[in-house]
Amino acid sequence: MTLHARALVALFVLFFCFAAAAQQAPSSNAANEMPSVTTVPPAAQPSPNFNVDAATEAYLAQIPASSRARSDAYFEGGYWLILWDFLYGAAICLLLLHLRWSAYMRNLAERITRFKPLQTFIYWAEYSVVVFILGAPLGIYEGYTRERQYGLATQTFGPWAWDQTKGLMINVLLGGLLVMLLFGIVRRLPRTWWLWGAVVTMLFLIFTVLIGPVYLQPIFNKITRLNDPKITQPILSLARANAIPVRDVYQIDASKQTTRMSANVSGFGQTMRITMNDNLLRRGSPEEIKAVMGHEMGHYVLNHIYKDILLFLPIVIVVGFGLLKWSLDWSLKWWGGNWQIRGIGDIAIVPLVVLILSIFGFVMTPVFNTQTRTEEREADMYGLNAARQPDGAAQGAIHLGEYRKMRPSSVEEFIFFDHPSGYGRIHRAMQWKAENLQLFEPQAAQESKTDSSAP
Ligand SMILES: [Zn+2]
Repeated sequence: MTLHARALVALFVLFFCFAAAAQQAPSSNAANEMPSVTTVPPAAQPSPNFNVDAATEAYLAQIPASSRARSDAYFEGGYWLILWDFLYGAAICLLLLHLRWSAYMRNLAERITRFKPLQTFIYWAEYSVVVFILGAPLGIYEGYTRERQYGLATQTFGPWAWDQTKGLMINVLLGGLLVMLLFGIVRRLPRTWWLWGAVVTMLFLIFTVLIGPVYLQPIFNKITRLNDPKITQPILSLARANAIPVRDVYQIDASKQTTRMSANVSGFGQTMRITMNDNLLRRGSPEEIKAVMGHEMGHYVLNHIYKDILLFLPIVIVVGFGLLKWSLDWSLKWWGGNWQIRGIGDIAIVPLVVLILSIFGFVMTPVFNTQTRTEEREADMYGLNAARQPDGAAQGAIHLGEYRKMRPSSVEEFIFFDHPSGYGRIHRAMQWKAENLQLFEPQAAQESKTDSSAP
C-alpha cells in the first residue's frame, strides 16, 4: 500500500467513526413548533387607534422566551459557522497543495488515460471524493448533529448520509462537466480565458437553474400535484389575478429532511409551477399560506431570477474571474514549484482555485446577503399588496423565526441576513395593515352587522 492509499483508508475510517458518533446524537422533537393558527393579538386588531409598534410587539410577544433563545442561539451559531466553514475549507485546500496530494491525484489521472478532458474529469472525481471525506467532520456536525439538536432535522443518519452522497454524485457529474469545459478554455486561450471562463460559467448556471426543479430536485424529494381545491383554488386565483400562467400547484415532501416551511415559483414557460412544501401545508394557517404565496409570486412578477442571472451574477462572476486570474498568476510564481503545479492549465491547480474563490466568497458575504435580502423585501411588499394578509405574513415571519433571529441589530442584519429580519417583516406588515384598516373591519362591528341583518 502506498502512503497515499494508506492515508485514504485512514480517512475513510475517520469518516465512519464520525458517522457512528453522529448516529448517537440526541434526536429532538418538534417542541419548538409554534401555533399554526393565525391568532391576531388584541393590539393588532383593527381599531381607530391601531398602533404599528404596539401591534408588532404584540406579535413578537407570542413567541415563548425559550423558543426565542433557542432560535437566537441557532442563528448566531450560524455566524461563526460561516467563519469555521471558510477556515476549514481553506485548510483542506492548503493541505492538498502542501502535501502535494493534488499533484498526486493529477498523476494518477494521467496514468489512467492519455485523453486530456478525461484526465480532467477523473481528477475532479478524485478531488470531490477526498474533499467530501476531509470535510465530513464539520459537514456532519453542521448539517446533521446541529440540525437535530435544534429540532430542525427529521432524518436519521443513514438517509441523511445518502442524500449527501447523492449530492456528491451530482457534484462529480455536473461539476466535472463544467471543469472540463473551463480547463479546455484555459488551455486554448491562455490570455483571455478568464473572460470566456466567466461566460461559460454563466451559461452553465442558467442551465442548472433550468434543469433544477425538473431533474435535480426529484433526486432528493417527491413532488406531487396538489388535488385539494380548498388549498389550490385561492392560490390559483391569486396567480391569475397577478397574471402568473400556472395551472397546477405542487407539493414537495420536504418534511423528509426538515421542519422548515417554504414555497417557490419555478420553471419556465410550460414547466412553470408553484411548489409548496408539506410543512407549510400542514402547519400554516390559510392566511399564512396566502401571504407566503403572495410573496413567492412577487419573486416571479418582479423577475428576480432573471435580474440575478442576467444582471447581478454576471458582474460578480466577471469580477471573480478577473481576481482569480491575477491571484493565480501571483501564487504560482511563489509556490507553483513547491506544489508541483505546472501552470495555469494544470488540473492540479483546482485546490488553489477553490481557495481563492472561497476567500472572495467569504469577503463578499454581506454583498450577496444584501442583494438577496433586498429582493426578499421587495417580494414581501408585493406579497402584502397581492394577498392582503398582513396577519398571515406576521404569522409566517414568526414561523420562520424558528431558525432565524427575530430582532438583530442593523449591522447584524446587513452582514448575515439573506432575508429581512422577522421584526422588520412584521413591522412592515403592520404598517401595511395600518394604511389599509378599511379592509379589516373590527370583529365587533362585523358581528353587530350580522346580528342586525338576521331576521
Ligand atoms: Zn422569498
